[in-house]
Amino acid sequence: MSQFVRPELAELPAYVPGKPAPVGPGGVSYKLSSNENPFPPLPGVLEAVAAACARMNRYPDMANAAVIEATADRLGVAGDQLAFGSGSSGVLYHLIQATCTAGDEVVFAWRSFEAYPIAVRLTGATPIMVPLGPGGVHDLDAMLAAITPATKMILVCSPNNPTGPAIGHDELAAFIAAVDGRALVVLDEAYREFVATPPRTIELIKDHPGLVSLRTFSKAYGLAGFRVGYCIADPALAGAVRKTAIPFGVSAPAQAAVIASLAAERELLDRVAVIIERRDALLSRLRATGLEVPDSQANFVWLPLGDRTTAAVKTFTEAGLMVRGYGDDGLRITVGEPEACDLAVEVAGTLVN
Ligand SMILES: *Cc1c(COP(=O)(O)O)cnc(C)c1O
Repeated sequence: MSQFVRPELAELPAYVPGKPAPVGPGGVSYKLSSNENPFPPLPGVLEAVAAACARMNRYPDMANAAVIEATADRLGVAGDQLAFGSGSSGVLYHLIQATCTAGDEVVFAWRSFEAYPIAVRLTGATPIMVPLGPGGVHDLDAMLAAITPATKMILVCSPNNPTGPAIGHDELAAFIAAVDGRALVVLDEAYREFVATPPRTIELIKDHPGLVSLRTFSKAYGLAGFRVGYCIADPALAGAVRKTAIPFGVSAPAQAAVIASLAAERELLDRVAVIIERRDALLSRLRATGLEVPDSQANFVWLPLGDRTTAAVKTFTEAGLMVRGYGDDGLRITVGEPEACDLAVEVAGTLVN
């Protein structure tokens, strides 16, 4: 490593993106490794983006004013409670930068979203990783017990990527009450749209200014390639995130895509309902093969295969399905096209012996 690079970077794991789709027998090829939306852009989005592209010589609106107004309207919050960035990962980086420094501790569950340890270490803060409980759920009691005077932030991923279970409103409210302002609680709701009964997060933020919600347009809204996410927070915190954000971090076509996507809510909800139906069918069909599969409230399912994971990923890949393996823990399958789900069940059936 170059002598000019900060020593912390040596310990930093690299973010590993989902691999592209392999080509299986007969040209079968599906990418089920990044929790992307299998649907094409929502109605009106391509046109809005094309119009924005025609003005690519101009900078986008740095304040994201139209995007903030449309989102605030939809959510019923004040515009100054929102801060946008390049995906909710980008917003998380900014939020951590705005709140944490060397010596601070950031508590989160493990396994969870792999961007967390990287984002935390980049600021010089220390990740405190609390093992998930049985069934891939957050062990909230253990996370509470991990709080020390150095704890600055607790990251809660619900539904948890990559395992799937979500935390209910009452459980979340009790957790926030128990944290009692000792640390900032950041609720990563990247998959919120797929949850049957999501928590009333905005109501909780009103009572607890130390709660932040992270949201993204990458998953349910199908804009992963455009990189837009945001947080909902107390105005003072949202303002701090806007201050740390990279100038013009949300491109003009991405801003146009968000506004057009928000205007297509009926179609969005229809598509989300289809994905939820496919997910529930996938869960029960996978369980019917005899595999152990935890609950999922997201657009993916988790197979906790332990040391059989690497071999299983290879089996899926050879069939034309790119799934996402996580060491010796398990593998994650995104709910994709109906044919891809059928094939996933078929391949999973061969793993049982
Ligand atoms: C996908 C995902 C995000 C959002 O990613 P962006 O594309 O950066 O908005 C955030 N958190 C989790 C847990 C995710 O899986």
